[in-house]
Amino acid sequence: MRLILLGPPGAGKGTQAQRLVETYGIVQLSTGDMLRAAVKAGSPVGLRAKDIMDRGELVPDDVVVDIVAARIDEPDAVKGFILDGFPRTVPQAQALDRMLADKGLKLDAVIELKVDPAVLLRRIEKRIAEMTARGEALRSDDNPDVLRWRLKAYKDQTAPLTTYYAMKRELRTVDGMAPIPEVSAAIDRILKGEAPKASKAKSSKVELTPAQGKRGAGRAGGKVKAASKAKKPAKSAKPKASRKPARAAAKRAGKPAGKAGPGPAKRKSARR
Ligand code: AMP
Repeated sequence: MRLILLGPPGAGKGTQAQRLVETYGIVQLSTGDMLRAAVKAGSPVGLRAKDIMDRGELVPDDVVVDIVAARIDEPDAVKGFILDGFPRTVPQAQALDRMLADKGLKLDAVIELKVDPAVLLRRIEKRIAEMTARGEALRSDDNPDVLRWRLKAYKDQTAPLTTYYAMKRELRTVDGMAPIPEVSAAIDRILKGEAPKASKAKSSKVELTPAQGKRGAGRAGGKVKAASKAKKPAKSAKPKASRKPARAAAKRAGKPAGKAGPGPAKRKSARR
């Protein structure tokens, strides 16, 4: 089984990845962990990444893509893996697609843990304050200012991935604000094929956790409904060109459609 877990820092990707490792006997490949190990070892990659990570910015795509390419070739990843923290930009996702295609491999699911950034920030700030009060060691990027940067990096560079995978009809979205057992159950239903896939128009529908299903129009249920409604592409009154951004962008760039060059995320990462 090969999975991607998407979601901002603190959304619970690590918790879910650990659980899935135990349940499905696959390895968790966390680029954050790999980069922290490289920093600790003082390797060339670590030296390149350290300051960037301490600022809460993203390490250049080529660095992480090389790390992942080498890691998924290792014997323990043959049975399957969960990518946690990768891809984080559209160019990384494209590189992963190429990497998997070259090896004749396919992804089984891309699961987004959807969370409210404001609630998340308060939750993480509280956790940092509690850990500091207990005198526990914090990661060097575990402070509220850096965290804001990390959330901004997610919003600007990683959130567009949900559109990328939704367009490929691979995205499944789970309400990451629900209690952990409910999030786990919703993910398991997806992996067991029990949660019906959304139609193309609703490909970013949030999966109901079992408890939300029962609650119906309760807090989470109502929110979920609103979320899927909001994502549903409305019949647009705009002229055709603006409904086909790739073609319009290609036209502006004087290139044929489909070769419009990098999207916003790629341009941003190329600037780094
Ligand atoms: P994480 O533990 O996943 O939150 O990652 C910690 C830090 O490592 C991030 O803030 C980035 O600086 C860096 N990082 C981890 N994964 C990636 C990635 N896929 N692309 C770029 N930078 C990454």
